[in-house]
Amino acid sequence: MQERDVVVVGAGSTGCSTFYHLAKLGVKEPLLIDMLPQVAAGQTSRSTALVRTHYSSEALARMALLSYRFFKGFERELPGKTAGYVETGLIVGADEASVGALRQNASMYARLGIDSRLMTPEELSSSGIEPELDASHFSLFAYEPNAGYAEPSTTAAAFAAAGADLGGDFLPDARVTAIRRAPGGRAGYSVETSKGAVSCDRVVLATGVWSKPIFASIGVPLPLTVSRHPVAVFGRPPGFRGTRPVVFDFLRSAYYKPEGKDQLFVGSLSHELDAKARDSDPDDYPQGISYDEAVDFSASASSAFPLMGASGTYRSGYAGLYDNTPDLHPVIDELSAWGLQGVHCVVGLSGHGFKLAPEFGRVCASMVTGGSFPDYDVSMFGLRRFDDGRLLTGRYGVSTVL
Ligand SMILES: Cc1cc2nc3c(=O)[nH]c(=O)nc-3n(C[C@H](O)[C@H](O)[C@H](O)COP(=O)(O)OP(=O)(O)OC[C@H]3O[C@@H](n4cnc5c(N)ncnc54)[C@H](O)[C@@H]3O)c2cc1C
Repeated sequence: MQERDVVVVGAGSTGCSTFYHLAKLGVKEPLLIDMLPQVAAGQTSRSTALVRTHYSSEALARMALLSYRFFKGFERELPGKTAGYVETGLIVGADEASVGALRQNASMYARLGIDSRLMTPEELSSSGIEPELDASHFSLFAYEPNAGYAEPSTTAAAFAAAGADLGGDFLPDARVTAIRRAPGGRAGYSVETSKGAVSCDRVVLATGVWSKPIFASIGVPLPLTVSRHPVAVFGRPPGFRGTRPVVFDFLRSAYYKPEGKDQLFVGSLSHELDAKARDSDPDDYPQGISYDEAVDFSASASSAFPLMGASGTYRSGYAGLYDNTPDLHPVIDELSAWGLQGVHCVVGLSGHGFKLAPEFGRVCASMVTGGSFPDYDVSMFGLRRFDDGRLLTGRYGVSTVL
């Protein structure tokens, strides 16, 4: 049986970042395990990977700011590696119902050091920030220059490679089937996989939408629903090409991500917990998008950007999955309340966990190695909050924006 100090289960953006941060903190030969053949083959590969600090939940805004700085300095932190980060800026277009929240956020951002500028529709239109956006039906905008998108699989692979450079190993094609107390009353755990068992002192679960069976197997109730999240990809016509800001459209509950030279990714900001397709099976769900979904996204994009209606093209679509908690905030915890000292988890990322990967990894690695995270309070992300009714809240009614 292999022996390790720490085993990380799940090689998506969360697990790979944690693996790297553990190795950076001096953990000897951490082991990263995934049931799939390569890193980032789960939901990370499907992510639109927007990196933004716009949250109305203060705890998440702070984590997002630190993660954003990590993405900006990625090549410095991980020499020779890249996250493929492209800075585009973000326009948040609010409807009347969200104006109050937008204004409250602005004062919170000023306190946190987040660069966010409130603009009227007239100010946005005359700014030249996104001339193709029809600003006229929105009530107020927040413009945030410090936002963009990264390449999600490249980011996870960079973290995994950096962790390996520091002595860690990756075990692919190994499904974790059980986590048991080490035999013979010894401290630690036996992580049982389809490729044999690994003995270790501590375990990190970063298992995303596949978390429910593994939590059930260790007797920990995890209130998670898995919802399908479709994305349509359109072609942008001449006049709407190149690097442009991402737009959150609260009027139509949609987001628009201009990617690369001429693509436009469109997805929904609707409340995931109300989604019709909630509780999908991660191993068996429709991975394409339906005709109706493509039509809806097309209608939103052409209302927001009239040029798309006139000469945009439909290219393709796909669907990924969100692992939603009841308050759409992550669970970051050590499962000691269930008698599982040394078993940590970062799960329930609710469709917005890619951008937070750098901080998830830093926080979790600190908790695993030192028993705490001293930089700021993360206790509100504990799993017990669902039993105690201490659900976290954001100011918006729109799902992942929180
Ligand atoms: C379409 C879409 C768009 C998104 N857009 C954004 C965005 O713009 N910005 C943002 O911040 N977030 C976004 N997200 C969310 C974000 O992508 C995810 O929160 C994040 O990538 C999840 O990473 P993860 O590592 O937790 O999960 P995953 O990448 O799914 O990794 C979990 C891994 O665990 C492995 N695993 C699970 N169980 C076992 C087991 N028993 N044994 C072995 N291995 C196991 C799986 O194989 C998988 O590789 C989006 C998500 C989707 C689907």
